[in-house]
Amino acid sequence: MARLEAAGYEAWCVGGAVRDMLLGRTPGDWDVTTGALPEAVVELFAPRALPTGLRHGTVTVGGGRGVEVTTYRVDGTYLDSRHPDHVTFTRSLREDLARRDFTVNAIAMDLRGEIADPFGGREDLERGVLRAVGEAERRFEEDALRILRGLRFASRLGFSIEPGTDSAIRRCAPLLRKIATERIREELTGVLLGEHVLEVLLSYPDVLGVPLPEVLPAVGFDQRSPYHCYDVWEHTARAVAAAKPWPVLRWTLLLHDLGKPDTFTVDGEGRGHFYGHWRKSVEKGSAILDRLRFDHQSKRTILTLVERHDAPLTLSEKAVRRNLSRYGEETVRLLLEVKRADNLAQAERFRDRLGLLDQWEALLNLVLEQGDCFTLRQLAVKGNDVMALGLRGPAVGRCLSALLELVIDETLPNDREILLDYAKEKLL
Ligand code: ATP
Ligand code: MG
Repeated sequence: MARLEAAGYEAWCVGGAVRDMLLGRTPGDWDVTTGALPEAVVELFAPRALPTGLRHGTVTVGGGRGVEVTTYRVDGTYLDSRHPDHVTFTRSLREDLARRDFTVNAIAMDLRGEIADPFGGREDLERGVLRAVGEAERRFEEDALRILRGLRFASRLGFSIEPGTDSAIRRCAPLLRKIATERIREELTGVLLGEHVLEVLLSYPDVLGVPLPEVLPAVGFDQRSPYHCYDVWEHTARAVAAAKPWPVLRWTLLLHDLGKPDTFTVDGEGRGHFYGHWRKSVEKGSAILDRLRFDHQSKRTILTLVERHDAPLTLSEKAVRRNLSRYGEETVRLLLEVKRADNLAQAERFRDRLGLLDQWEALLNLVLEQGDCFTLRQLAVKGNDVMALGLRGPAVGRCLSALLELVIDETLPNDREILLDYAKEKLL
């Protein structure tokens, strides 16, 4: 900013960085807005300037994640609820601030700490209010992504959404169908990771139901079960909020019970059951993750966790080794977190199961410390040993897997001679 000023240009820090500084939070990234044209910015900071979005006037300056320096601009007409057909550079900071989404994101601060705040952003910050800049409905029609940005900021900051902005968000929500899936996925993940996600999930199922129609049957679905004092959606929301803020965990909890409405039955005593609901949840979850183009690895982990979320964990070293062998340590630890969060969102008098999870975790640590064998890599017998017995091709792997199972179950010790003797006698 000093260099821009020295060259005779205005330069202001703007957006999330100013918002976060005024809230006493540490900014994640830095945005600067300036009267200098992009070419001038590139020239001033060469060779440490990358024209990352020249069409929109953005130059990234410096190493690491850099600072995004954007020329004051006015957006042209939005024809598709996604992006302006063109942008025009302007000399006016105020015009630049007017194109921004929420008042708390439309505050500028210069090097000396002077503030430009034409839309009352600071007052909204103090009151904890998200308010669209200008006419809310038009702003969401221009760019529907702002709807999810609003929910993300509400979830992160715990702000309430001002009534006019709130009703515009709900009216314009169907426009989210026009937004690219990657951007929807990123914003939804942002919503899920917020500290105040519970309030957002409870207040905006109708909006979330546009990109995620699978959640709608859960809303208000009475479980008629002593384990549950909440309907399926409220239980889901509470489980999400109870989980550590890691994307895989929070997505898992969002999806874990979506199959419940499809599998609901009532027994003779009037009690509700959801036998095998996890299977339906996996089905719906899989459709959602595919539609949002999740990467293969995350999808696999999330669906494994959804599948296993309700499966009982036996408190034995054998059961721990079996789980480790099937899913690996990382996923097993995540599963414990999923079960904890699920349990925390159930009726209070059933929370004692948390103790069982702690015991299971202690057993898990013990098994790992002991160096128990649960992978082929740890098995005392290797491929060549089995081949020396005359086995070839897929039979080699089958024999090793059979031996591993026996070691995991403690039928046999992990001892080379004993395992080979057994293989010779029983497996050949
Ligand atoms: P974060 O802390 O997540 O980075 P941010 O507010 O800085 O939040 P960015 O995506 O970094 O969000 O954008 C920087 C600024 O650009 C925003 O504060 C806002 O003023 C403006 N902005 C970003 N996206 C939009 C949009 N879709 N519509 C209007 N203004 C936007
Ligand atoms: Mg930012």
